[in-house]
Amino acid sequence: ATLLEEVKNRLRDVPDFPKPGILFKDITPVLADPHLFHRVVDAMAAPFRGQRIDRVVAVESRGFLFGAPIALTLHAGFAPARKPGKLPWRTRTERYALEYGEDGLQLHEDAVGRGNRVLIVDDLLATGGTAQATQRLVTALGAEVVGYSFLISLDFLPGRERLGRDKVCSLLSY
Ligand code: 5GP
Repeated sequence: ATLLEEVKNRLRDVPDFPKPGILFKDITPVLADPHLFHRVVDAMAAPFRGQRIDRVVAVESRGFLFGAPIALTLHAGFAPARKPGKLPWRTRTERYALEYGEDGLQLHEDAVGRGNRVLIVDDLLATGGTAQATQRLVTALGAEVVGYSFLISLDFLPGRERLGRDKVCSLLSY
């Protein structure tokens, strides 16, 4: 089987999580298989190999699981984007809209430097609100978003358009 088929077969669809009516893609079976996990990380990093990437910024919390090993393979630094109140030092905050209400994300002020070339990583792209808030944090700190790498993108939602088609890479699309 191809890598794509293997990942597809291993993802677990969980109905009504975290709320009724939502079909949640559970990525933990991919993490549990060391060979598959390794190949997924390599494939998510592949489009950005040979480009200068100074930092990988990944989104709490499943983004960390892929972002940290991708940073290692690209010889880039790593910075976590977290929910408000979790980071210990001085932060920047961006708010973003959810279906009902809003949420926020924070980065340490020194998480990225002026002129840094940044790759944003998360497990799944849906509406793009989370990744767009992360992009605003990165650019507010004077760095440049080179691209986005996701394991999964839901292409019946507008995420890819919102972030810019040419910048978005995903292993799997639905
Ligand atoms: P967006 O902001 O693009 O609408 O939502 C993406 C965020 O929600 C990501 O941080 C992602 O982890 C999370 N998310 C939403 N739906 C799912 C899902 O079905 N599976 C997983 N693993 N994450 C999801």
